[in-house]
Amino acid sequence: MKKIVIASKNLDKVKEMRLALKVLPVEILSLSDFAEIGDAVEDGATFEENALIKAKFFSERTKFACLADDSGLEVDALGGLPGIHSARFAGWHADDNTNNQKLLDELKKIGAAESKADYRCALAFVDTDGTQILTQGKVEGKIKTVAKGSGGFGYDPYFYLDESRTMAEISPAEKNSISHRGAALREMILKLKERFR
Ligand code: IMP
Repeated sequence: MKKIVIASKNLDKVKEMRLALKVLPVEILSLSDFAEIGDAVEDGATFEENALIKAKFFSERTKFACLADDSGLEVDALGGLPGIHSARFAGWHADDNTNNQKLLDELKKIGAAESKADYRCALAFVDTDGTQILTQGKVEGKIKTVAKGSGGFGYDPYFYLDESRTMAEISPAEKNSISHRGAALREMILKLKERFR
């Protein structure tokens, strides 16, 4: 059976992708199935470039087909930041808490209590023969400075889907059905079904 490695070290993302990929007739592996492989240098200028850099890097090292994502939050009032810097918004040792604090600080600096925002995701699949497939997804919402919910990860408690519900208040299945990663995954699955039928 064809094997595909989910090339992400973010366990939350691996969980979300594994759930969505269940429908494919392939065996899903993750980077935890391999001895320590270093990190790809994500020096692309876009989500797409970074996803492709990661998928190529891990495919070359694992010798398997790899699926990598690059995603992030774009806040209108912050000119699209944190964007491709979402994971390290608060610096090299950033985590979800410090990133969220940085988000609140930046909004406070400009006196904004809320702003239109979106999550974007680019997915790159690189096969052992070098074939590349790219897909994208986006979900629009609003960032507010009041956190709600304990689900999801990252900026989810501050990302409002409507006036009352945040991305951290919905189930993993509902998140997959509406999220940026869910949308990019659905498009990717259609293309992979064609390839592996
Ligand atoms: P990446 O691992 O370099 O793609 O960085 C993605 C970063 O964007 C994560 O660490 C989060 O900060 C943020 N992010 C991406 N997707 C989500 C999501 O679904 N919820 C919350 N934050 C997200």
